[in-house]
Amino acid sequence: MTERAGPPRGDARDVELADEAERVRAWLADQLDSVELSTAQFPVEAEEQAAELERLAVEIGDEHLQLRSLLVQADVKGRAGQSVASGRVLRSVNRWANAHDDQYLLARSHRLLGSFFGTLGDDVAFLEHAMQSVELLAEGARKALRADHLSSLGIAQGRLGAPEEGRASFAEAERLAAELGDSYRQVLIVNNVAYLEYQCGEPDRALTAVERLIGLAEEHGIELDPHYLDTIARVYLEVGRFAEAEEILSGMLVDGEAGRLGDADGVAEFTLTLAEVQRRRGATDEAEASLREVRELCEQRSLHGVLVRVHQEQAELYAVQGRFEEAFTEHKAFHRLSQQLRSDARLARARTLQTVFDYEQARRASERFEELAYRDPLTNLRNRRYVDTSLPTILESSDCESDVISVAFIDLDHFKRINDTLTHLVGDEVLRQFAALLADAAAEPSYVARMGGEEFLLVLPGADHEKAVRLVEELQERIRSYDWTPVTGDIPVRASMGLATALVRDTEQSDLLAEADRNVYAAKGAGRDRVIASDLSA
Ligand code: GH3
Ligand code: MG
Ligand code: MG
Repeated sequence: MTERAGPPRGDARDVELADEAERVRAWLADQLDSVELSTAQFPVEAEEQAAELERLAVEIGDEHLQLRSLLVQADVKGRAGQSVASGRVLRSVNRWANAHDDQYLLARSHRLLGSFFGTLGDDVAFLEHAMQSVELLAEGARKALRADHLSSLGIAQGRLGAPEEGRASFAEAERLAAELGDSYRQVLIVNNVAYLEYQCGEPDRALTAVERLIGLAEEHGIELDPHYLDTIARVYLEVGRFAEAEEILSGMLVDGEAGRLGDADGVAEFTLTLAEVQRRRGATDEAEASLREVRELCEQRSLHGVLVRVHQEQAELYAVQGRFEEAFTEHKAFHRLSQQLRSDARLARARTLQTVFDYEQARRASERFEELAYRDPLTNLRNRRYVDTSLPTILESSDCESDVISVAFIDLDHFKRINDTLTHLVGDEVLRQFAALLADAAAEPSYVARMGGEEFLLVLPGADHEKAVRLVEELQERIRSYDWTPVTGDIPVRASMGLATALVRDTEQSDLLAEADRNVYAAKGAGRDRVIASDLSA
């Protein structure tokens, strides 16, 4: 079945491939531009999409884009409370960005590291990272991105009790969002403004922001999610507008909206705030009932953080009712538990930091990272980047004049038909099983890599022409006799192979691959499902 090579086809296809990679790169960057900014609004979709983009970035061997995708995933994980997993990625990417002087990734990783520290309650570190994340943004950075970084900076400034600075950051962020007509982002920022004012003890300013928040949401038809409603209710409570606060809170509890806050404590938190509203407007019986409910929830779900505040609120309630002895007992319980909670939190924080910043762990993580960068995620084979680093080493390291090497390009025949008639998912499964067959045929030091799409490269160091031909023909026979029916039914799975053998000492990687590529093309032209081989060592 093996035929001699036809005439060389020239480099037209290389140029085509380079163009294609460039096109994919631009498309990926475009996708990342938008997915990066959607993690707050659509976390699930953003994470899924970023995982897919990561796969494609690995496929074209673009580390910068791969790490951008990883940051998006880490962002979503962090928002979902997976601080350790998220922090490790952030740390590794930040280190890589430092080493490679990658300003964009530095800005992004600092932005997310800021939030990471913010979650852990280390507001000084939050501020430091947030400031860097703004400074590092290039002049021409997208407005929405700048708005996002500024908004995060504003939160850190607010938390550290620097309301003036925080207001300035938010004002700039909001101006950018408004310029873009990005009302979702604008609402997000105004909510942060309201929270900052509330936090800094400026209830009137907070109320102004809340009213703006509600106005914007109404104007643009944006549904206010529980996070916003929580801010609004707290501000109403603070300015004594109890009826409005109660309406929002009970509305959410009735709709089960509070559970959507993401954390298990959502419902308990809301009910607790409701109890406080009821007490302050003088409805002690209702407050009592609400508190009982929260207490039960806390016991059922071990919500220690909320339970502490239950004791505090209970103490206030007893005091209003004139039951001072009981109030005092509750107050003592509150005090004891809150101290306990503070020291538990400190310990947990220390553990997280230790895990994320532990040098050994970080090293292992970055090794796994490197390893991942050289693997194709779909088939778990080596990828093109691995070939580009390993093949020159193989070609250089040989000290024996007569050393030979063979490589074979393997391209599935009419693969598009499988995708088109049986779906892309089946196509993927074919690629996985096909890859497993190839991997079985490549014992060390041989290996097989997925070069992209449905194209693979078998690298056979030390295999001369004869041996290599025997090997690939056996492989082809195995592909033919493999039972594909469970996967593709009647449609056969076949491949064309282009083999090239050369002497190691006088061969350039590009020449060797070009020869094999010409041969696989010739095999396609000659009717597919065959091997075409040429021997440059002869
Ligand atoms: P030929 O015999 O000439 O090689 O024809 P072909 O259909 O195999 O080759 P062509 O290059 O026209 O099409 C390759 C197809 O492979 C197109 C693309 O959609 C598909 N493909 C590339 N990567 C993947 C992947 O990861 N999964 C799936 N399912 N399909 C892929
Ligand atoms: Mg093909
Ligand atoms: Mg192809």
